[in-house]
Amino acid sequence: MAFEGLTEKLSNAFKKLRGKGRLSEADVKEAMREIRLALLEADVSFKVVKDFIARVTERAVGADVLESLTPAQMIVKIVNEELTALMGGDSVKLNLSSRPPTVVMVVGLNGAGKTTNCAKLAGFMKKQNGKRPLLAACDTFRPAAIHQLEVVGEQLGIPVFQMGQSDPVDIAKSAIEHAKKHGNDLVFLDTAGRLHVDEELMEQLKVMKAAVDPDEILLVVDAMIGQDAVNAAKAFDEALDITGVMLTKLDGDARGGAALSIKAVTGKPIKFVGVGEKLDQVEVFHPDRMSSRILG
Ligand code: GDP
Repeated sequence: MAFEGLTEKLSNAFKKLRGKGRLSEADVKEAMREIRLALLEADVSFKVVKDFIARVTERAVGADVLESLTPAQMIVKIVNEELTALMGGDSVKLNLSSRPPTVVMVVGLNGAGKTTNCAKLAGFMKKQNGKRPLLAACDTFRPAAIHQLEVVGEQLGIPVFQMGQSDPVDIAKSAIEHAKKHGNDLVFLDTAGRLHVDEELMEQLKVMKAAVDPDEILLVVDAMIGQDAVNAAKAFDEALDITGVMLTKLDGDARGGAALSIKAVTGKPIKFVGVGEKLDQVEVFHPDRMSSRILG
């Protein structure tokens, strides 16, 4: 995970403040200007940056901060807290149904990492939470997807339900029935994607949502596409009212804009992150840890 540019620029801004000892309101304003630029260069949404800077400034120019013995340190603390809040505050767990199987509809654009991360997440829930997941191959749009899911399922020792090129809604319903009969308490529906957000796709996903009433609609987005990931998240949320986001390829994302913007723009939490191609490279998203990491 990189974020180097952001970390370096923020640390430069703080270094200047530390060098000053006592701070004036003008010193804080100058630091805020640098932080603002650093966030914009990290590809954080414009409005998110504007609101963020306003919140930090309001807290930082308070008399208790400026007149304290360690104003620079207090400002770093405020930025840390506000970055954490921006990303949602606390980590958020998968919604588990009190009446299993829990149904997780995994949606996203092609190439975001949907199929891989469906499997990663199933593996994670099996290992960390003792669940007995079932992977359901509902992506009949991309021909190789079914086989791909079978391959990763096999690697993780997780069963894969498939019905070839049947109707995806029928596959989803049958997979849930299969799970009930075979004691699988968690079903991941690997749904079809497209290259871009597209009406037909959204309609199909809405039909599936209505048919299976999922406990969770998890959107998989690629962190490397920055603002486009945020726009995709907005579009999927408007169409489907998603319950959470899985942000993949964070290992390759040098800037961090998507991680910092998604919660603020959509109101939906990032629940998990993908941090590599291997099937165990999945983590619960912790906003506070991410913020500390960004601050270096
Ligand atoms: P789908 O089209 O959305 O189902 O995407 P795939 O699951 O086929 O993944 C597309 C590519 O992204 C594959 O080469 C994956 O190995 C890769 N990928 C998925 N998650 C991650 C991740 O967290 N980090 C990295 N570096 N690559 C990933």
